Amino acid sequence: MGRKLRVLLIMCLLVSGCGKGPEILTDIENKKALVSINYPVTEVSELDEAISSYINKVKNEFKRNNYKGKPELNISYTYKEVNSEIINVSILTEIVTDKTINKIKTFTYNKNTNKFLTMDDIVDDLDVLDYDIKKEMLKKYQNADMDYLSSASYDFFTIDDDNLTIYFNPAELKTTDSNLVYLDIPLDSLNLLIDVDKQEETTNYTNFKKKTISEEDKVVALTFDDGPSKYTKDILDILKRYDACGTFFLIGNKVSFYGNILKEMLQNGNEIGNHSYDHKYLTRLSENEVKEEVSKTQEEIKRVTGFTPKLFRPTYGGYNNTLKSYIDLTFVLWDVDSRDWEVKNTEGIMNNVLKDVKAGSIILFHDNHEYSVKALPEVIKELKKRGYKFVTVSELLELKKIREGQ
Ligand code: ZN
Repeated sequence: MGRKLRVLLIMCLLVSGCGKGPEILTDIENKKALVSINYPVTEVSELDEAISSYINKVKNEFKRNNYKGKPELNISYTYKEVNSEIINVSILTEIVTDKTINKIKTFTYNKNTNKFLTMDDIVDDLDVLDYDIKKEMLKKYQNADMDYLSSASYDFFTIDDDNLTIYFNPAELKTTDSNLVYLDIPLDSLNLLIDVDKQEETTNYTNFKKKTISEEDKVVALTFDDGPSKYTKDILDILKRYDACGTFFLIGNKVSFYGNILKEMLQNGNEIGNHSYDHKYLTRLSENEVKEEVSKTQEEIKRVTGFTPKLFRPTYGGYNNTLKSYIDLTFVLWDVDSRDWEVKNTEGIMNNVLKDVKAGSIILFHDNHEYSVKALPEVIKELKKRGYKFVTVSELLELKKIREGQ
């Protein structure tokens, strides 16, 4: 089995050139636990192996712990191509049970020398800096453990356009709160041994393609959660081919990774909605945390596409009035669930959609599975045969308003 799979994988790489550059893998589960895992696959094998073996370790520990109730495992990431050679990735783990545990692990890898880098490889005179860093840490975290801090090494760090950020796991630093302990050091203030390329983002506003829908039309809205992903482009191509459209509820942390696809998404007459930044279970979060999950996603989508979403879909479909009062966007659920993640095949997906669909339906799919992509042409063809036209959720809501006004 293992060998067959490996041969298949190698074949796939040789024949179709599966390598399309880095991607973000998303794994969302809602069975015994609420699990949301997002992480980059860089196609640099040694780095990918290190990342995935770390994630497997975290997942296995989580499973072994057998937490009561519906525990949550959220794994998110940051990804930065520091320059043409160096990639910096951080993996952030949050475990929510009766208390919350946060952990971080970072990887900095030089593709040309095939080496993992430490802070010593990045910053000159770390010995001299050491005193200032620790002084700043003590100022920021007054209840930190002095003994630990004095001997702490700088194992975890990220680099963005402005700062080098050093992280310490809270459990080790013995601070009283469970949030990650970190210190931002402006890049300008450091003697760096490497170049840091700043990312340039263009913002160009894209208008929706206008569709001709009349009031009498029998319409449905196809919706896709948890993207963008490496399958998004295929979904867009299918929608275009069949003159259909969809509404994509995106996870904020993946948005910048697939920026170009998102522009195309809007140009083709699709709509983008907000599905939170890290796909946490939102009703467990504080007002500030919820607002941050939503606003960070709004900002990312705006920055990358120029478009500001008006729609929100709560993660796992979970919401209450308190959550609604925190979010100033239109909540959109669904009345038809393809359960694509569960049935995993075209026939099952077709059955689930067709048994419940009616004029005005909002149909739920997911944008991170191959079987959803495979089923989509069949679903669209059958719906068309039954006389349905496709609109975005905003268009659907607009149409409902017009009809109710009469
Ligand atoms: Zn989701």
